[in-house]
Amino acid sequence: MTYIIAEPCITVIDRGCVEVCPVECIYEGEDQLYIHPTECVDCDACRPACPVDAIFAESDTPEQWKSYLEKNANYFVEHPDAVVAKPKES
Ligand code: SF4
Ligand code: SF4
Repeated sequence: MTYIIAEPCITVIDRGCVEVCPVECIYEGEDQLYIHPTECVDCDACRPACPVDAIFAESDTPEQWKSYLEKNANYFVEHPDAVVAKPKES
């Protein structure tokens, strides 16, 4: 399994998830952040850290955000050089 990031992240991108991810598997995207599907260890730390409930365990993704399963997976196919997201600037 993995975790995915859905539409509510777009425009917010406050990086709360990046701060708490223990394996640095959250990457920069053009309009949102993305979780690397094979690097994610399913620890659930990021999900409650997101202020807009944009993060879901893949199997718990609500119907309205199901298209984001493919969007997240495709991102890493289309961007093999994706870079790890930076934490918030302090
Ligand atoms: S579930 Fe854990 S490992 Fe996966 S992206 Fe969230 S914080 Fe990182
Ligand atoms: S915490 Fe939520 S809104 Fe903030 S960057 Fe992560 S997924 Fe996007």
